[in-house]
Amino acid sequence: MAAEKRPVSSTLWMVLFGLGAMLIAGVFANTDETAAIPYSQFQTYLDAGKVKQVVVSGDTIRGTLTEAMPGGKTQFTTVAVPRDLAAALSKQNVEYSALVTSSAFGTLLSWIIPPLLFVGVWMLMSRGSGAGGMAGGLFSIGRSKAKLVTAETNIKVAFDDVAGVDEAKAELHEIVDFLKRPDEFGRLGAHIPRGILLVGPPGTGKTLLARAVAGESGVPFFATNGAEFVEMFVGVGASRVRDLFEKARLSAPCIIFIDELDALGRARGATPMGGQDEKEQTLNQLLAEMDGFDRSVAIVVLAATNRPEILDPALLRAGRFDRQVLVDRPDKIGRVQILAIHLKKLTLAPDVKMEDIAALTPGFTGADLANLANEAAVVATRRGGESIAMADFTAAIERIVAGLEKKSRILIPRERRIVAYHEMGHALVALATPGSDPIQKVSIIPRGIGALGYTMQRPTDDRFLMGLHELENKMTVLMGGRAAEILLGDDISTGASDDLAKATDIARGMVLRFGMDKGLGPVAWDTEQGQFLGQPGAFWQPRRFSDQTAHEIDMAVRGHLEAALNRAVAILTENRAQLDTGAESLLAHESLGADELPAVTMRVG
Ligand code: ADP
Ligand code: MG
Ligand code: ZN
Repeated sequence: MAAEKRPVSSTLWMVLFGLGAMLIAGVFANTDETAAIPYSQFQTYLDAGKVKQVVVSGDTIRGTLTEAMPGGKTQFTTVAVPRDLAAALSKQNVEYSALVTSSAFGTLLSWIIPPLLFVGVWMLMSRGSGAGGMAGGLFSIGRSKAKLVTAETNIKVAFDDVAGVDEAKAELHEIVDFLKRPDEFGRLGAHIPRGILLVGPPGTGKTLLARAVAGESGVPFFATNGAEFVEMFVGVGASRVRDLFEKARLSAPCIIFIDELDALGRARGATPMGGQDEKEQTLNQLLAEMDGFDRSVAIVVLAATNRPEILDPALLRAGRFDRQVLVDRPDKIGRVQILAIHLKKLTLAPDVKMEDIAALTPGFTGADLANLANEAAVVATRRGGESIAMADFTAAIERIVAGLEKKSRILIPRERRIVAYHEMGHALVALATPGSDPIQKVSIIPRGIGALGYTMQRPTDDRFLMGLHELENKMTVLMGGRAAEILLGDDISTGASDDLAKATDIARGMVLRFGMDKGLGPVAWDTEQGQFLGQPGAFWQPRRFSDQTAHEIDMAVRGHLEAALNRAVAILTENRAQLDTGAESLLAHESLGADELPAVTMRVG
């Protein structure tokens, strides 16, 4: 304890010493030119007519003499003594002067008390919190949060709890083998990657996979989040990283899991804001730690991100997160397997077929499917059912897809009419377009935020390749809403904005990436690296074509969109009667199933 205290008290003495020196220097600043003289002396000079000028401030008198005093000085300072007393004293020839201490003491206090308070608070902070006063308080900010990262042992999650991500599981099996028998693994000189980056959209099971690796190999699991390392104070995040790895080294073999790595590993200089020092230090510390531990220490660092494109390239270099495992949305078979996991605990009606549910949920992630299972159970419970039926699942799917029904939201009649024409337009164009995904339901019941109505189209299969005609058809269907509004003749509405955005994306893809525009040729003008996970590309990506080409691209995109709108208008003009009757029955019933839609003339060509 004594040794621990010394630095604080010696600092205190240094502060006090410095203050004293400053005070002395301040009070006696002019001593070499000015003499402090007794008041009686001043009276004598005054009576003798030797005082040239004075400045009086309170009791203090400063002044200059016409001739030098014995010490050779002409400047003097003195403090006045009350008049009557001075007269009496002079009469008796007593030398008299007044003390300056009273005011000087005040000055002294005002100089010393604030710093003393400051030092006091500092000492309190540095001693106060930490247990036993050892390295606690202020000096332990760097540790406080890392302390929360304690190893989780005995994790019960297994690979069987994760489905639909077979490639990722295959890659991670190797890591499990290594963690189980690190010595044996190194026998032939094989080495294991230190860092593995799990890349995929949110909810696809990255965290679950990391936990499964720990569960399968039975090693301690240190789970943190990239955001936990991002702090205001420079150096704090870095010391947290150091602490984490120190602890991990002590419990090796083990796993460190850093979720949302992008929060801390964002490319340097990628954010327009300043103040990057702290993040850079933290990142550098992480890089140093990953380079630091030698191959024999069995620590595997797993990290997760859904935005690999913004990570600092240094993180992805050899010896760091050099292996990336894609954890993508599950396909139809994957969804069946995931459903099997999440429906295991539920009481299902005999009509529930997981294949059917999987067919209705393309694009759903594992988390969405887990949510769906729960929603279906809630729906069934609310209607007082004995078991969960297929209808409960369809209701839950609708709910998840389009947001909760907002029956309370009332559209004024004119708006309802526009929405009915708009949605019926989508539906009829889809019906009339060969090869379109079948319509399941058309509705003008407002759902969720922003969607005033919806047309539910379900792809029958997951698609990996699309032909030019399919893309054009998709755009035509998207334009169906706007086309119907045009034919209604009232006015065109803002309701088509989402459709237009989607159609524009398709048209841009055709022109810029798929080489599908005749005029611009088979050139990938824009490779859009960020696109593969559905993330927008990095904004600073340089343009790789001339102004001339840029203009041509704009015109080509516009051309494709206008052609799509024209096709949609043509289809609906030909089926004008069906559009009117369809919209009317939609207004009457609010929602229509596939078999309630009017028959249309197919588009040819
Ligand atoms: P991520 O970390 O990728 O955002 P999580 O691992 O946190 O996703 O997934 C959240 C939940 O969703 C999991 O706890 C699990 O219940 C469910 N889930 C997600 N993906 C899967 C999957 N592939 N198999 C089974 N369940 C999954
Ligand atoms: Mg997660
Ligand atoms: Zn629309």
